[in-house]
Amino acid sequence: MSSSSPKGAALITGASSGIGAVYADRLAKRGYDLILVARNEQRLNAVAGRLRGETGRQVTVLPADLNDKVSLAKVEAVLRDDPSITMLVNNAGVGSVASILRADVDKMAAMIELNITALTRLTYAVAPVFAARGAGTIINIASVVGIAVEALNGVYSASKSYVLSFGHSLQKDLAEKGVRVQTVLPGATATEFWDVAGYAPQKTSEITMSAEDCVDAALAGLDAGEQVTIPGLHEGELWTRWEAERRELSTKFGNAKPAPRYRAAADSVGAA
Ligand code: NAP
Repeated sequence: MSSSSPKGAALITGASSGIGAVYADRLAKRGYDLILVARNEQRLNAVAGRLRGETGRQVTVLPADLNDKVSLAKVEAVLRDDPSITMLVNNAGVGSVASILRADVDKMAAMIELNITALTRLTYAVAPVFAARGAGTIINIASVVGIAVEALNGVYSASKSYVLSFGHSLQKDLAEKGVRVQTVLPGATATEFWDVAGYAPQKTSEITMSAEDCVDAALAGLDAGEQVTIPGLHEGELWTRWEAERRELSTKFGNAKPAPRYRAAADSVGAA
Protein backbone atom coordinates (compact mmCIF):
# COMPACT_ATOMS: atom_id res chain seq x y z
CA MET A 1 0.00 0.00 0.00
CA SER A 2 1.50 3.34 -1.07
CA SER A 3 1.63 6.25 1.38
CA SER A 4 -0.18 9.54 0.69
CA SER A 5 1.72 11.98 -1.48
CA PRO A 6 3.09 15.15 0.15
CA LYS A 7 1.89 16.88 -3.04
CA GLY A 8 -1.67 15.81 -2.32
CA ALA A 9 -4.14 14.55 -4.88
CA ALA A 10 -5.23 15.85 -8.27
CA LEU A 11 -8.86 15.26 -9.25
CA ILE A 12 -9.02 14.99 -13.06
CA THR A 13 -12.30 14.90 -14.96
CA GLY A 14 -12.42 13.13 -18.30
CA ALA A 15 -9.45 10.99 -17.26
CA SER A 16 -10.53 7.84 -19.13
CA SER A 17 -9.00 8.92 -22.46
CA GLY A 18 -7.20 11.60 -24.44
CA ILE A 19 -5.89 14.73 -22.77
CA GLY A 20 -7.25 13.76 -19.32
CA ALA A 21 -5.53 10.36 -19.37
CA VAL A 22 -2.22 12.08 -20.24
CA TYR A 23 -2.72 14.56 -17.36
CA ALA A 24 -3.22 11.52 -15.10
CA ASP A 25 0.04 10.01 -16.35
CA ARG A 26 2.08 13.20 -16.05
CA LEU A 27 0.69 14.27 -12.66
CA ALA A 28 1.25 10.80 -11.17
CA LYS A 29 4.83 10.96 -12.45
CA ARG A 30 5.15 14.40 -10.80
CA GLY A 31 4.19 12.75 -7.50
CA TYR A 32 0.47 13.51 -7.19
CA ASP A 33 -2.04 10.96 -6.00
CA LEU A 34 -5.01 10.87 -8.35
CA ILE A 35 -8.80 10.82 -8.31
CA LEU A 36 -9.98 9.93 -11.81
CA VAL A 37 -13.47 10.91 -12.99
CA ALA A 38 -15.32 9.88 -16.18
CA ARG A 39 -18.26 7.65 -17.12
CA ASN A 40 -16.39 4.58 -18.37
CA GLU A 41 -15.33 2.71 -15.21
CA GLN A 42 -13.49 -0.01 -17.10
CA ARG A 43 -11.25 2.50 -18.88
CA LEU A 44 -10.68 4.45 -15.66
CA ASN A 45 -9.60 1.23 -13.94
CA ALA A 46 -7.18 0.49 -16.78
CA VAL A 47 -5.57 3.94 -16.46
CA ALA A 48 -5.53 3.65 -12.64
CA GLY A 49 -4.03 0.13 -12.63
CA ARG A 50 -1.23 1.09 -14.99
CA LEU A 51 -0.34 4.26 -13.05
CA ARG A 52 -0.40 2.53 -9.66
CA GLY A 53 2.03 -0.05 -11.06
CA GLU A 54 4.31 2.48 -12.78
CA THR A 55 4.40 5.21 -10.13
CA GLY A 56 3.33 3.67 -6.81
CA ARG A 57 0.92 6.57 -6.32
CA GLN A 58 -2.54 6.20 -4.80
CA VAL A 59 -5.09 6.30 -7.62
CA THR A 60 -8.82 6.33 -6.87
CA VAL A 61 -11.46 5.82 -9.52
CA LEU A 62 -14.65 7.87 -9.24
CA PRO A 63 -17.02 6.92 -12.07
CA ALA A 64 -19.53 9.70 -12.71
CA ASP A 65 -21.63 11.10 -15.53
CA LEU A 66 -21.14 14.84 -15.08
CA ASN A 67 -24.33 15.42 -17.08
CA ASP A 68 -26.23 13.74 -14.27
CA LYS A 69 -27.02 16.09 -11.36
CA VAL A 70 -26.77 13.39 -8.68
CA SER A 71 -23.42 12.10 -9.94
CA LEU A 72 -22.12 15.64 -10.34
CA ALA A 73 -23.14 16.41 -6.74
CA LYS A 74 -21.11 13.39 -5.56
CA VAL A 75 -17.97 14.73 -7.26
CA GLU A 76 -18.66 18.20 -5.80
CA ALA A 77 -18.90 16.62 -2.34
CA VAL A 78 -15.55 14.87 -2.79
CA LEU A 79 -13.96 18.19 -3.77
CA ARG A 80 -15.45 19.90 -0.71
CA ASP A 81 -14.72 17.12 1.79
CA ASP A 82 -11.45 15.42 0.83
CA PRO A 83 -8.64 17.48 2.36
CA SER A 84 -5.98 15.63 0.35
CA ILE A 85 -7.09 17.35 -2.89
CA THR A 86 -4.68 20.09 -3.95
CA MET A 87 -5.45 20.28 -7.67
CA LEU A 88 -8.55 20.15 -9.89
CA VAL A 89 -8.20 19.54 -13.62
CA ASN A 90 -11.53 20.43 -15.27
CA ASN A 91 -10.94 18.56 -18.51
CA ALA A 92 -14.11 16.58 -19.36
CA GLY A 93 -15.81 18.08 -22.39
CA VAL A 94 -17.44 17.25 -25.69
CA GLY A 95 -17.57 19.09 -29.00
CA SER A 96 -19.38 19.11 -32.30
CA VAL A 97 -18.70 20.29 -35.82
CA ALA A 98 -22.40 20.65 -36.71
CA SER A 99 -23.60 24.07 -37.88
CA ILE A 100 -26.53 25.66 -36.06
CA LEU A 101 -28.94 24.61 -38.80
CA ARG A 102 -27.95 20.95 -38.43
CA ALA A 103 -27.30 20.62 -34.70
CA ASP A 104 -29.77 19.00 -32.32
CA VAL A 105 -30.62 21.57 -29.63
CA ASP A 106 -30.89 18.89 -26.92
CA LYS A 107 -27.32 17.81 -27.68
CA MET A 108 -26.25 21.46 -27.52
CA ALA A 109 -27.90 21.84 -24.11
CA ALA A 110 -26.14 18.69 -22.88
CA MET A 111 -22.85 20.14 -24.15
CA ILE A 112 -23.46 23.34 -22.20
CA GLU A 113 -24.21 21.27 -19.08
CA LEU A 114 -20.91 19.40 -19.34
CA ASN A 115 -18.56 22.06 -20.74
CA ILE A 116 -19.94 24.95 -18.67
CA THR A 117 -22.23 23.89 -15.81
CA ALA A 118 -20.22 20.93 -14.54
CA LEU A 119 -16.92 22.84 -14.83
CA THR A 120 -18.45 25.77 -12.95
CA ARG A 121 -20.00 23.66 -10.17
CA LEU A 122 -16.77 21.70 -9.61
CA THR A 123 -14.82 24.96 -9.44
CA TYR A 124 -17.31 26.40 -6.95
CA ALA A 125 -17.00 23.25 -4.82
CA VAL A 126 -13.23 23.39 -4.49
CA ALA A 127 -12.39 27.12 -4.71
CA PRO A 128 -13.49 27.98 -1.13
CA VAL A 129 -11.49 25.02 0.23
CA PHE A 130 -8.36 26.12 -1.61
CA ALA A 131 -8.92 29.77 -0.65
CA ALA A 132 -9.31 28.89 3.04
CA ARG A 133 -6.09 26.88 2.85
CA GLY A 134 -4.30 29.61 0.89
CA ALA A 135 -3.11 27.08 -1.69
CA GLY A 136 -4.39 24.97 -4.57
CA THR A 137 -4.41 24.80 -8.35
CA ILE A 138 -7.32 24.77 -10.77
CA ILE A 139 -6.62 23.91 -14.42
CA ASN A 140 -9.50 24.50 -16.81
CA ILE A 141 -9.34 23.07 -20.33
CA ALA A 142 -10.78 25.54 -22.85
CA SER A 143 -9.88 25.50 -26.57
CA VAL A 144 -8.42 27.79 -29.23
CA VAL A 145 -11.94 27.96 -30.68
CA GLY A 146 -12.85 29.95 -27.57
CA ILE A 147 -10.98 32.69 -29.49
CA ALA A 148 -11.35 31.44 -33.09
CA VAL A 149 -15.07 31.22 -32.45
CA GLU A 150 -16.19 30.84 -36.06
CA ALA A 151 -14.48 27.43 -36.22
CA LEU A 152 -16.48 24.27 -35.37
CA ASN A 153 -19.91 24.38 -33.76
CA GLY A 154 -21.03 27.71 -32.30
CA VAL A 155 -22.21 26.32 -28.98
CA TYR A 156 -18.95 24.42 -28.51
CA SER A 157 -16.86 27.50 -29.35
CA ALA A 158 -18.97 29.69 -27.06
CA SER A 159 -18.70 27.16 -24.25
CA LYS A 160 -14.92 27.41 -24.52
CA SER A 161 -15.08 31.24 -24.62
CA TYR A 162 -16.92 30.90 -21.31
CA VAL A 163 -14.10 28.80 -19.87
CA LEU A 164 -11.56 31.45 -20.94
CA SER A 165 -13.62 34.34 -19.50
CA PHE A 166 -14.43 32.43 -16.32
CA GLY A 167 -10.70 31.78 -15.89
CA HIS A 168 -9.87 35.50 -16.11
CA SER A 169 -12.47 36.22 -13.45
CA LEU A 170 -11.29 33.37 -11.21
CA GLN A 171 -7.73 34.61 -11.50
CA LYS A 172 -8.85 38.05 -10.30
CA ASP A 173 -10.83 36.61 -7.36
CA LEU A 174 -8.49 33.82 -6.27
CA ALA A 175 -4.91 34.92 -6.97
CA GLU A 176 -4.64 36.96 -3.78
CA LYS A 177 -5.97 33.96 -1.83
CA GLY A 178 -3.01 31.87 -2.97
CA VAL A 179 -5.00 29.82 -5.50
CA ARG A 180 -3.55 29.31 -8.97
CA VAL A 181 -5.87 29.18 -11.97
CA GLN A 182 -4.56 28.17 -15.39
CA THR A 183 -6.69 28.12 -18.53
CA VAL A 184 -5.37 25.86 -21.29
CA LEU A 185 -6.38 26.36 -24.92
CA PRO A 186 -5.49 23.26 -26.93
CA GLY A 187 -5.73 23.38 -30.70
CA ALA A 188 -6.68 20.28 -32.69
CA THR A 189 -5.42 17.31 -30.67
CA ALA A 190 -5.39 13.65 -31.71
CA THR A 191 -8.04 12.20 -29.39
CA GLU A 192 -11.46 10.57 -29.52
CA PHE A 193 -12.90 14.07 -29.18
CA TRP A 194 -13.12 14.13 -32.98
CA ASP A 195 -15.05 10.86 -33.18
CA VAL A 196 -17.63 12.29 -30.78
CA ALA A 197 -17.61 15.71 -32.49
CA GLY A 198 -18.29 14.17 -35.89
CA TYR A 199 -15.05 14.70 -37.83
CA ALA A 200 -12.68 11.76 -37.22
CA PRO A 201 -10.23 12.70 -40.06
CA GLN A 202 -9.03 15.67 -37.96
CA LYS A 203 -7.14 13.19 -35.75
CA THR A 204 -4.57 12.60 -38.49
CA SER A 205 -4.38 16.11 -39.98
CA GLU A 206 -0.96 17.74 -40.26
CA ILE A 207 -2.01 20.54 -37.87
CA THR A 208 -3.10 18.10 -35.16
CA MET A 209 -0.95 17.76 -32.02
CA SER A 210 -0.52 14.63 -29.91
CA ALA A 211 -2.24 14.67 -26.51
CA GLU A 212 1.18 14.03 -24.94
CA ASP A 213 2.74 17.15 -26.52
CA CYS A 214 -0.35 19.18 -25.61
CA VAL A 215 -0.26 18.24 -21.92
CA ASP A 216 3.53 18.51 -21.61
CA ALA A 217 3.35 22.05 -23.06
CA ALA A 218 0.43 22.93 -20.77
CA LEU A 219 2.38 21.75 -17.71
CA ALA A 220 5.44 23.71 -18.87
CA GLY A 221 3.14 26.75 -19.03
CA LEU A 222 1.91 26.00 -15.51
CA ASP A 223 5.50 25.71 -14.26
CA ALA A 224 6.28 29.06 -15.92
CA GLY A 225 3.42 30.69 -14.00
CA GLU A 226 1.22 31.31 -17.04
CA GLN A 227 -2.44 32.10 -16.45
CA VAL A 228 -3.34 31.17 -20.02
CA THR A 229 -1.42 28.56 -22.00
CA ILE A 230 -1.90 27.97 -25.72
CA PRO A 231 0.31 24.98 -26.60
CA GLY A 232 0.08 25.39 -30.38
CA LEU A 233 0.58 29.18 -30.58
CA HIS A 234 4.15 29.76 -31.71
CA GLU A 235 3.80 33.58 -31.79
CA GLY A 236 3.30 34.02 -28.04
CA GLU A 237 3.68 37.80 -28.36
CA LEU A 238 0.37 37.91 -30.28
CA TRP A 239 -1.46 36.64 -27.21
CA THR A 240 0.41 39.05 -24.93
CA ARG A 241 -0.53 42.01 -27.16
CA TRP A 242 -4.15 40.90 -27.59
CA GLU A 243 -4.57 40.41 -23.85
CA ALA A 244 -3.01 43.84 -23.11
CA GLU A 245 -5.41 45.45 -25.61
CA ARG A 246 -8.39 43.62 -24.07
CA ARG A 247 -7.44 44.93 -20.65
CA GLU A 248 -7.02 48.47 -22.01
CA LEU A 249 -10.39 48.26 -23.80
CA SER A 250 -11.93 47.05 -20.52
CA THR A 251 -11.12 50.42 -18.95
CA LYS A 252 -12.98 52.43 -21.64
CA PHE A 253 -16.63 51.41 -21.19
CA GLY A 254 -17.68 53.66 -18.29
CA ASN A 255 -19.47 56.53 -20.07
CA ALA A 256 -22.99 57.77 -19.27
CA LYS A 257 -23.34 59.33 -22.74
CA PRO A 258 -23.30 57.36 -26.00
CA ALA A 259 -20.20 57.71 -28.12
CA PRO A 260 -20.16 60.68 -30.55
CA ARG A 261 -20.42 58.33 -33.54
CA TYR A 262 -23.96 57.43 -32.41
CA ARG A 263 -25.04 61.01 -31.57
CA ALA A 264 -25.68 62.26 -35.10
CA ALA A 265 -28.51 59.78 -35.62
CA ALA A 266 -29.94 60.50 -32.15
CA ASP A 267 -29.76 64.28 -32.78
CA SER A 268 -31.53 64.03 -36.16
CA VAL A 269 -34.36 61.97 -34.57
CA GLY A 270 -34.66 64.69 -31.88
CA ALA A 271 -34.73 67.45 -34.56
CA ALA A 272 -37.45 65.75 -36.65
P1 NAP B 1 -11.69 12.68 -25.33
O1 NAP B 1 -10.55 11.73 -25.51
O2 NAP B 1 -12.97 12.38 -26.01
O3 NAP B 1 -11.91 12.86 -23.76
C1 NAP B 1 -13.08 13.38 -23.20
C2 NAP B 1 -13.17 12.88 -21.78
O4 NAP B 1 -14.34 13.41 -21.18
C3 NAP B 1 -13.27 11.37 -21.70
O5 NAP B 1 -12.49 10.90 -20.62
C4 NAP B 1 -14.74 11.12 -21.44
O6 NAP B 1 -14.86 9.92 -20.72
C5 NAP B 1 -15.09 12.34 -20.60
N1 NAP B 1 -16.51 12.65 -20.63
C6 NAP B 1 -17.28 12.90 -21.71
N2 NAP B 1 -18.55 13.10 -21.34
C7 NAP B 1 -18.58 12.98 -19.98
C8 NAP B 1 -19.60 13.06 -19.01
N3 NAP B 1 -20.87 13.32 -19.34
N4 NAP B 1 -19.27 12.88 -17.71
C9 NAP B 1 -17.99 12.61 -17.35
N5 NAP B 1 -16.98 12.53 -18.24
C10 NAP B 1 -17.27 12.70 -19.53
O7 NAP B 1 -11.29 14.14 -25.83
P2 NAP B 1 -10.11 15.13 -25.37
O8 NAP B 1 -9.62 15.78 -26.59
O9 NAP B 1 -9.14 14.47 -24.47
O10 NAP B 1 -10.97 16.23 -24.57
C11 NAP B 1 -10.56 16.75 -23.33
C12 NAP B 1 -10.86 18.24 -23.29
O11 NAP B 1 -10.04 18.90 -24.26
C13 NAP B 1 -12.31 18.62 -23.64
O12 NAP B 1 -12.75 19.61 -22.73
C14 NAP B 1 -12.20 19.20 -25.03
O13 NAP B 1 -13.22 20.16 -25.28
C15 NAP B 1 -10.83 19.84 -24.96
N6 NAP B 1 -10.21 20.11 -26.26
C16 NAP B 1 -9.94 19.09 -27.13
C17 NAP B 1 -9.39 19.38 -28.37
C18 NAP B 1 -9.10 18.30 -29.37
O14 NAP B 1 -8.83 18.64 -30.55
N7 NAP B 1 -9.09 17.03 -28.99
C19 NAP B 1 -9.08 20.70 -28.70
C20 NAP B 1 -9.36 21.72 -27.80
C21 NAP B 1 -9.92 21.40 -26.58
P3 NAP B 1 -16.12 8.92 -20.68
O15 NAP B 1 -16.59 8.74 -22.10
O16 NAP B 1 -15.56 7.69 -20.06
O17 NAP B 1 -17.13 9.60 -19.80
